[in-house]
Amino acid sequence: MPLKVAVNKAKIIATYGPAIETKDKLIEIIQAGVDVIRFNFSHGDYAFHQNGFNLVKEINKEHKLNIAILSDLQGPKIRIGKVDGELVLKKKELVEITDKECVSTKDTLFVSYEKLYKDVTIGERILINDGNIELKVVSVNDKKIQAEVIYGGILTSNKGVNLPETSLSAPSLTPKDLKDLDFALKEGTNWVALSFVRKASDIKKVISIIGEERHSYTKVISKIEKPEAIENIDSIIAATDAIMIARGDLGVEVPPEKVPLLQKDIIDKCIINAKPVIVATQMMESMIKNPVATRAEINDVANAVLDGTDAVMLSGETSIGKYPVRVVQTMQQILSNIEDAELIYNKQLVANPESETFLSDAICYNACKIAKEISAKAIIGMTMSGYTAFKISSYRPKAKIFIFTENKKLLPTLNLFWGIRAFYYNSEVGTNETIDDVIQLLKTNKLVKRTDLIVNTAAMPLKSKGKTNALKVSLVE
Ligand code: PEP
Repeated sequence: MPLKVAVNKAKIIATYGPAIETKDKLIEIIQAGVDVIRFNFSHGDYAFHQNGFNLVKEINKEHKLNIAILSDLQGPKIRIGKVDGELVLKKKELVEITDKECVSTKDTLFVSYEKLYKDVTIGERILINDGNIELKVVSVNDKKIQAEVIYGGILTSNKGVNLPETSLSAPSLTPKDLKDLDFALKEGTNWVALSFVRKASDIKKVISIIGEERHSYTKVISKIEKPEAIENIDSIIAATDAIMIARGDLGVEVPPEKVPLLQKDIIDKCIINAKPVIVATQMMESMIKNPVATRAEINDVANAVLDGTDAVMLSGETSIGKYPVRVVQTMQQILSNIEDAELIYNKQLVANPESETFLSDAICYNACKIAKEISAKAIIGMTMSGYTAFKISSYRPKAKIFIFTENKKLLPTLNLFWGIRAFYYNSEVGTNETIDDVIQLLKTNKLVKRTDLIVNTAAMPLKSKGKTNALKVSLVE
């Protein structure tokens, strides 16, 4: 039976974890407005992820939904190993950094990156636990690094390490990532997120592993969290299918006060390039423990939507938090309120005549323009590759966007895009009959009603499966 689910233009991503690992809890958060479930491969074993993948697929099948699965690969994340209880690092003390696995003490810290002594140079900072502890390298010789504690603090096991000034030579895909990617692809993930992307070739490598055929429905997200990624942002956006502004590590790797403008700038670039963008991390962090969000968090989520993000992401709030359903409901209410504001709609992105896709881009743009002029209730697009869906979504029309595709495996993937609701449709009839058919389908599902105006885009003749080249306005009868 179809479930009654909250629907918004901007999408909600929830991270899977012990707080939502039952089918009932997953159904509850989906009803509250979740569109994508993220599996964080930094935590949990394959049995744990397998259970979650199976549940999402089961829920989709039983309730005719297209909830997407996003597999987030850890990437070359550097960590402190085990610490004996709690270590106190004090200002001005010297510590030795080693890549030989050991239980760390206040004199010797194990760091999980064997080439660190090759990459790091004197004077560079080593940040631990989101920058709460800061060390400065004072000497490097014979595989040994000596560092001075600049800001001390209490250190516990497995905390993350960031080296914002060091150019790391670690490959973007670690052996663990390759295994995790293999698992995720075999289990039918819809999206793969690559952590610590530095350049376009990092993404091209993942796309080549995914393979051309599967890449028509399994898409790649580049997580922006390194200064090098900011430097290469244009080529990364061109190479990737989507972007995640991973503010956790980004705010350690670049001065955190730079993140708000970077967020706006990256979102603008993504919209211009019709690539979906996710704003992630600490969006409703206090709700991991508390039943209400802070006013600042509510403003942060609202501002991300005002900036134009496709999706907002929850991490610990849903994976380990005390209030996973309530946090989604709160987020959904914020989205719903912001979606009353006219300023989030109708981006004036006139199609670029230099582009190879100029003609179909012009059709998509004008479909949105006409929809605005005639106050159409919906825009309908047909797609095989998803391109028409990406493009229409990027113009941020106020009308609902309904996308029909015979590429069944693409349906959950499309669920991440702003405003898109996708349906399976496969028929050999002509363009006019197809348009009548899909409108009827929407009417039966109470998504449009009599007297609604609809703007249809199509590739004529439909049989040719070519690019979108036609536009028709219909009145629902
Ligand atoms: C981040 O750093 O903001 C992020 C989303 O990555 P992760 O949760 O994998 O650290």
